[in-house]
Amino acid sequence: MNRNPIKHCKDCGHQVAYRLPDDGDTKPRAICTACTTVHYENPLNVVGTIPHWQGRVLLCKRNIEPRLGKWTLPAGFMELGETTAQGACRETLEEAGAQVELEGLFSVVNVARVGQVHLFYRARLLNDQFDPGHETMEARLYEEADIPWDELAFKTVAETLQRFFEDRRSGRFGFHDLAIP
Ligand code: ZN
Repeated sequence: MNRNPIKHCKDCGHQVAYRLPDDGDTKPRAICTACTTVHYENPLNVVGTIPHWQGRVLLCKRNIEPRLGKWTLPAGFMELGETTAQGACRETLEEAGAQVELEGLFSVVNVARVGQVHLFYRARLLNDQFDPGHETMEARLYEEADIPWDELAFKTVAETLQRFFEDRRSGRFGFHDLAIP
């Protein structure tokens, strides 16, 4: 996986080359051709929530690429200096203008192909007043029967929602360690 290979050294600005480091590391790394700094690249975390209110789940219609116009759970890249729980609440507020109380980590979805790990929390909405930010065209509550499965933006969201409704039917919410090929 290397969608956006590093081209220039973040320290000195010279070109990097992908090669095995001299320390016995078995993976090629982006190494500066001038100062020899090794630039490690690691997966990013995406954090979000499954906000629910009186049996319905809040989805956001995306106002940005990728997947403009498709529906998603509120989620986004974690920021430095915050916990996963704080990030999930922040994204829910930013994208849906929704206030939530987290109930527990529900799914960890590995997307190794693009170097991402997505974490979704179950979240109780504190009210049904939403104020979507610029990233969202519309935020609305869906009954399970009305979920636009063919119009969901991401497989991570579809897999998480599917487990959420399965668990709800069974009467017990579990934890789901998932991977998307
Ligand atoms: Zn350098």
